[in-house]
Amino acid sequence: MENHKAGPIPSLAECLRAADQTKELLINRGCYAGIPSLLEKYYQAGGVYLISDENTWEAAGRKVREILEGAGIAVRGEIRFPAAPRLHAEYYHVTAIKEKLSALPNLDETVPLAIGAGTVNDLVKRASSELGRTYLCVPTASSVDGYTAYGAAILYDGYKQTMPCTAPLALAAEPETLAGAPSYLSSSGFGDLASKIIAGCDWILCDLVGPQGAPVAEPIREDVWNMTQPGLLDYLNRSIPAARGDSDAVIALFEALAITGFSMQALKSSRPVSGSEHLFSHVWEMDDLSIDGVPVTHGHKVTIGTLAATAYYELFFADPAAPPSPPKGFTRPTPSLRMVEVSSAFKGSRAHDLVVKTALEKLVDNAAADRINQAVRDHYKELREKVLARLLPYAKLKEMLGKAGCPLKPEIIGLSRSQAIATARRAQMMRNKYCLLDLSWDLGLMEGILSRLEDSPEYLR
Ligand SMILES: [Zn+2]
Repeated sequence: MENHKAGPIPSLAECLRAADQTKELLINRGCYAGIPSLLEKYYQAGGVYLISDENTWEAAGRKVREILEGAGIAVRGEIRFPAAPRLHAEYYHVTAIKEKLSALPNLDETVPLAIGAGTVNDLVKRASSELGRTYLCVPTASSVDGYTAYGAAILYDGYKQTMPCTAPLALAAEPETLAGAPSYLSSSGFGDLASKIIAGCDWILCDLVGPQGAPVAEPIREDVWNMTQPGLLDYLNRSIPAARGDSDAVIALFEALAITGFSMQALKSSRPVSGSEHLFSHVWEMDDLSIDGVPVTHGHKVTIGTLAATAYYELFFADPAAPPSPPKGFTRPTPSLRMVEVSSAFKGSRAHDLVVKTALEKLVDNAAADRINQAVRDHYKELREKVLARLLPYAKLKEMLGKAGCPLKPEIIGLSRSQAIATARRAQMMRNKYCLLDLSWDLGLMEGILSRLEDSPEYLR
């Protein structure tokens, strides 16, 4: 195994330079005044079209419109989604935004301006991209990692998909607006940032077993690793008071989340920022988790996913000498048996066909599973050392998430403990992106780990 030492941590400006789509991020008090210059510098804009919701209009939209009009920039129209019920990233909203924009006589020189949190941003990002336009983003909360990602998380055909589209050319994030966001949004962003710990561990695994026949080989790329991993714990510590409206903390949190997006732009993959924990949340997004009719945020689902994945890692690497062994007589399912398993796990889901296809695509043959098994056993001690050096111990993670106002138990996001644990099985079937869930499944270890997780007096309680 190669040794990935933490290199120098690149600055925000250096991370921005590594990104190939976003050119500028303003994050300072009074930065909305800089929006007219951003429009002039990066966009051939004769005017703008504003998209917000009633809450984000009050938080930032009104002020931004005043500044634009004061600078003589034409506001060519506006969509303001209702504040309630809470906006969902449903594809039909993308269609609605596109229809309004397409009706403009001068779309070619109009810049869509997204004023909002993750959902508004994702909808505008995808709509703009489909129309061949680049947009400008005014984030109103440090709530997700997706602002600067090159894709948008959209619910399409009952399935939360990362639809490809271009990241914003520029963003203007006013600390006062971010600090004034509801605390659940900041704690959601904190959970989304904490998930990068697991993403880093999964990348270490993938780096080792990729060449052995895992379906997607993604070696660690040092410069991108350095953007997201070595500085992560420091960013998390500084971001803890974000949910209490602390201005320095929301800036740190937004900056860290923005950097994760820049790292995706640099690598053209979500590998550095999303792993097993996001697979749990993808399942819960499909299940449309809600509490009293209010949808659970992406970041809160990811938080429980991060706790579950951390527990799973600790159980996998519990023995200092060797990984767990598969049950006696274990045989790997044939493709046709696997198809039946996956099909029944997703029976009735609109995502059924896509998940079955993905699960079969990533089914490794016995020879590849043997090579992966051998590589893990040959390098176990070193692998364990590296993973545990990155992994925040469960108790510490839980304490940190608690201080940051994040949910700590599955019940808080509308799941029983057993449901949350059982999700690992469906999570592994989704997405072709090798992680510990895949590795443990390939080696016949998943059921053993899940039953130890279920019996544990500590995890997810
Ligand atoms: Zn996320």
